[in-house]
Amino acid sequence: MLFQDDPRPKLVGIARLAASSDLLEAKRQVEYLELETRRFIGRGSGRMRSIWTINPYRGCEFGCKYCYARYAHEFMELRDPELFERKIYAKQFQSAAFRAEVRRLKLGDVVWMGTATDPYQPAERRFQITRQILAVFADERGLDLGVTTKSDLVARDAALMVQIARKNKIRVHLTITTLDEPLARLVEPRAPRPALRLGAVKKLTDAGVPVSVLAHPVMPLINDSEDSLDRVCAAAARNGASSFSAAPLFLKPCAAQVFLPFLEQRFPHLLRRYRERFENSAYLKGHYPEMIADRVERIRARHKLAERREPEWPLPEGTFDDQLELFPSLAKGPAAEKPGSPAGTLQRKVNRL
Ligand code: SF4
Repeated sequence: MLFQDDPRPKLVGIARLAASSDLLEAKRQVEYLELETRRFIGRGSGRMRSIWTINPYRGCEFGCKYCYARYAHEFMELRDPELFERKIYAKQFQSAAFRAEVRRLKLGDVVWMGTATDPYQPAERRFQITRQILAVFADERGLDLGVTTKSDLVARDAALMVQIARKNKIRVHLTITTLDEPLARLVEPRAPRPALRLGAVKKLTDAGVPVSVLAHPVMPLINDSEDSLDRVCAAAARNGASSFSAAPLFLKPCAAQVFLPFLEQRFPHLLRRYRERFENSAYLKGHYPEMIADRVERIRARHKLAERREPEWPLPEGTFDDQLELFPSLAKGPAAEKPGSPAGTLQRKVNRL
């Protein structure tokens, strides 16, 4: 068995202080840019073809070590994976143009916001694109909306979501991988603390917005114990969530190049086992995913929560091809930062938050 014991390091005292000072330093390095966008609503591909996707931002400041979306920056030739969390692009939003896109949707269409990056990351406080998008949906009817986030900022829009729910379906999927705050700080360094996310679950459900809690991803020997997952599920139930799900980590190459060095630094005793397990596939196969599925099923039954997955998890290959459609020419490789390149003319630097 490759994943057995669980000697997890705890951050205490000075180590905890050092972690917060790293956090402040990292925040100072974040740069925000605006990006012209032909269209906001993209199509999923493959088995996700029936889903429409919206991602108001490219890049994500939360900087989760397992993030699978870093590849989106590679299309702009921003190959340093750290740039995904330091160079954040806000898509320029025009309400009339977006409304015209929405009018092309059909009754019952599923629209999923936050498939590639978090729609409530810190940039949202300033640009408020997610909020403007929701304001347009509030005038529509017959759509099935999902919003996935790790941020408590989502509770700001509870009233708007209630308005949307009068004529559409809407559900928020809040990701909480652990209640262990030092661990969350290590793995999701700039995402809001789990307690804040739970507070958002409560605010949303008190307002009448349905919420699912997702403990994705389940990382072997890091957050996968029955006790750890049970505590997340119990807290989700206490705060009004109606469903809970969790599925194992997958490691695409763009994620592995951040996650494996992170393991080496923080969980060196696990590095060999992760390398062996993910050597030939981005997905864990065999006994482990079955064991986690059984564990999650037991936990869900204990707390009487339903299963509600995001449209598909783990995400299939090529799910977010709409990222390419944003810059068809970038898929062929001009450097985003090069003067005169398509991306160079499309992006406009804005001042720091
Ligand atoms: S919140 Fe989501 S998009 Fe942002 S870094 Fe974490 S996993 Fe990636």
